[in-house]
Amino acid sequence: MFETLALVFGVLLAVSLIPFLFIAIRNALRERGPRVITCPENGCRAEVAVGAWRSGLSSAFGEDNRRLVACSRWPEKEGCDQACLSEIAEDPNGCLVRSIVSDWYAARRCAGCGREISTGHATDRRPGLRAPDGRAVELSDVASVDLDRVLATHEPVCANCFDGMAFRQRYPGVAVERPQPPTTLV
Ligand SMILES: [Zn+2]
Repeated sequence: MFETLALVFGVLLAVSLIPFLFIAIRNALRERGPRVITCPENGCRAEVAVGAWRSGLSSAFGEDNRRLVACSRWPEKEGCDQACLSEIAEDPNGCLVRSIVSDWYAARRCAGCGREISTGHATDRRPGLRAPDGRAVELSDVASVDLDRVLATHEPVCANCFDGMAFRQRYPGVAVERPQPPTTLV
């Protein structure tokens, strides 16, 4: 009898935890990835990351329990008071590098072909950047701490235009850029 009650209780407990587990996993996936914040200690930009699973699990129970697991100022400043967590709590998405980048592209059109640039799907090819001097710059070559400056001075280019720019940059004189014919509806 006792075993049966314990089993029923255990099953009910497990079932009742499923929604929390679902929310914890969803929140943890959102918490993943590098963030760029202003370090309160020196006022400079720094790249940080929080413990996604710890944060996701605690937020599922209504608690903010973020802790840094990485910082570009470590190991020199490891053991700091992690005061930048208040900046992250204020706007968790606003400092996520992937959100900053996707919002930036979403608000602009390709400087080469004028098309919209999609970065919201896993299948989207990665777009690139055009530097003020016309160079093709890969997003992966931009350090998070330089992101503000680069996005303020560079132009967005879609993956197709970026590939063309990178090719011409690599093999100057091989490819000739021809003007695009005007688009017609018929
Ligand atoms: Zn383009």
